[in-house]
Amino acid sequence: MSIVRIALDVPLPTLFDYMVDSGIEVSKGQRVVVQFGSRQMLGVVMETAVISDVPHERIKQVTQVLHDSAALSSGLLDLLRFCSDYYLYPVGQTVFTALPARLRSIRPETRKTMLIYRLSASGAAIDLNDFPKRKVVQRRILAKLAEHPCNIAQIMALSASAAAQLKSLVHQGYVDQCDAIPTSTAGHTFENAHTLTGEQQQAVDAVEHAQGYECFLLHGITGSGKTEAYVHMMHHKMLNGGQVLLLVPEINLTPQMEHYFHSRFPGVDLISLHSGLSEGERLHNWQLAQSGTAQIVLGTRLAVFAELPRLELIIVDEEHDSSFKQQDGLRYSARDVAIFRAHQCGIPVVLGSATPSLESYHNAQIGRYQLLKLTERAQDSSRLPDVRCINIDQTVMHHGISESLLGEIGQRIARHEQSLIFINRRGYAPVLMCTDCGWISGCQHCAGNMVLHLNEHRLRCHHCGYQIRVPQACPSCGNAGLHPVGSGTQRVESVLQERFPDARILRVDRDSTRNKRAWRNMREQIRANEVDILIGTQMLAKGHDFPALTLVGVLNPDTALYSSDFRAAERLFAQLVQVAGRAGRADKPGEVLVQTAFPEHPLFRALHDYDFEGWAAMQLVERQMAGFPPFVYQAMLRAEGKQEKEVFRYLNDARMAAVNLNQSMELQGSMEMLGVVPAAMPRRANHFRAQLLIQAKNRKVMQQFLHVWQPSLNEHQTRKLRCSLDVDPMEY
Ligand code: ADP
Ligand code: ZN
Ligand code: ZN
Repeated sequence: MSIVRIALDVPLPTLFDYMVDSGIEVSKGQRVVVQFGSRQMLGVVMETAVISDVPHERIKQVTQVLHDSAALSSGLLDLLRFCSDYYLYPVGQTVFTALPARLRSIRPETRKTMLIYRLSASGAAIDLNDFPKRKVVQRRILAKLAEHPCNIAQIMALSASAAAQLKSLVHQGYVDQCDAIPTSTAGHTFENAHTLTGEQQQAVDAVEHAQGYECFLLHGITGSGKTEAYVHMMHHKMLNGGQVLLLVPEINLTPQMEHYFHSRFPGVDLISLHSGLSEGERLHNWQLAQSGTAQIVLGTRLAVFAELPRLELIIVDEEHDSSFKQQDGLRYSARDVAIFRAHQCGIPVVLGSATPSLESYHNAQIGRYQLLKLTERAQDSSRLPDVRCINIDQTVMHHGISESLLGEIGQRIARHEQSLIFINRRGYAPVLMCTDCGWISGCQHCAGNMVLHLNEHRLRCHHCGYQIRVPQACPSCGNAGLHPVGSGTQRVESVLQERFPDARILRVDRDSTRNKRAWRNMREQIRANEVDILIGTQMLAKGHDFPALTLVGVLNPDTALYSSDFRAAERLFAQLVQVAGRAGRADKPGEVLVQTAFPEHPLFRALHDYDFEGWAAMQLVERQMAGFPPFVYQAMLRAEGKQEKEVFRYLNDARMAAVNLNQSMELQGSMEMLGVVPAAMPRRANHFRAQLLIQAKNRKVMQQFLHVWQPSLNEHQTRKLRCSLDVDPMEY
């Protein structure tokens, strides 16, 4: 008889003791089924023990041990324990956050072999130019397989009839189906496209020669060849049989990146992990990573929890991006977890960015990270676009777009070049307003305003989803003069369409790219220069290569300059640098026009000079004086509930407890408690929301404090409140 300590998916901070008969083998990481309350639940064995603190007669037997292939390694268990501890999140829920959905259910999971399709010898010999033109889908499949072997899901993504056409290709002998990707442990092919520049070579050498753990910050301007440097770093690690984990911020970027790395490492087993995969695909890919078959694992933040038995290098691309931080449940930062994981495995980790986060930049300045710089564009002739400000107080404006910007767009259309109109999504959605009485389209259930969706003739609340038809007249005074204020993508589109009736305009935002295939088609359209004007939000700023694009217009950056969120300016700078990087190619210089009321603002001057260092230095001085991160560590306690009083009472009690602790502990007042304040969105879906920020100059002190303070939070909490603790919060 032995005792096992089990993690269950319940909101309690403990493990649960169960018994197993002595005849049965159980080890750490194994999945088991146990009775919990009246239910059978899946659990993961975190520890085995001989004795338990729980009285013998109260310990239940494990119902079933799942002898499947899904057992977790002790390395991963340690990582999850660390996360649970650091983010003060229940250990069981932490473990279950990391697992693919299929592994969270009590079904035993054997490793199913998913069929992989690849070109046969006769398939590879086909010249697509000679292949019948009318067999469109078959041609598409052959072209795709020529790039790399695919699973059925990847093929199905090509067309609705792809499955049937694939069958036909198999039947004709052009395509082979095999059980899994054969492991190619003995080296791999590598398309060495370029001779590295001196700076690239130095960066690659530094990572190659790292002994054990080291964190590198690769700061390279747009187009300096960071990706090229990654390729060489990866190549080196894979030569030794290692696995590489590459984290990217945006799910929309993964197909492109996948394609790119396949082309650079033909034949290498690369899988992706992100929330856009079906449950089956995600499990399959997880298993390929776990078995060591996948040499490159490319994914969004959740991929940081993949099993990687031969992990030798982690790369975090666009490390400054706030989407690495999960905003609910286990509020982890995948970048920070990646660094911890590298430390745990004794391997190098590379954080790459054109505009590093001030946290990482500061760490590089004080020598905690090693700074690697790429200061030149990799291709001699290409230069960064010119950045100019348009003073919106001194020019004619047409519904938010200046006459000079319209003029420039017109010139681009005449030259068959593309323009991108970039809208900073946050806070710029158009709302409806009465010109008579000042009524504004507020949401009944929230403190926010409802956003005008012109095409559907609806007002919709982006916070709670409540929607109504656009009213004919002002609900308050009956006046018919309701006008949109603020500019959303749809509104900008209608202004531009009016001015340029013949222009081909494409709007790219979350709504229009929710469908994967639609987004791919859009990219193809843009690349084929079938679009004159692109209108987009953040999504378009990231990593797309549009050769005909020569003008970027930035419509409304100003609120970020004076935001209550101290990171708003940092984010704006990063965004503008990124979006500027979309404009211009070697033969066609690009231009960025920023519409602002503050053309002399240091941010725009730094942007004009592409002076990240100067900008960062200035920001860091401000942060230090104001006592903001990275000079302090923060945690945010949030609460929401139907009764405003209760929300505030809870937070005030929590604050009192914190103040008392701070005095009584050996910490001697090293914690700082700020006031209890309403959240930036003080009411959402009929719930009042408020928050309490606390901070400390030292991370250890903060952690020590949180571990004493947090248990008392649960005591004060009533059932009617929803509360969460956010360590290293990114949103305020
Ligand atoms: P980043 O990721 O820093 O924006 P990329 O790695 O995408 O930059 O490189 C920008 C462009 O420069 C790409 O077209 C790439 O092929 C090219 N490039 C990168 N490194 C070199 C090099 N050493 N020599 C010539 N061209 C290069
Ligand atoms: Zn009115
Ligand atoms: Zn609402």
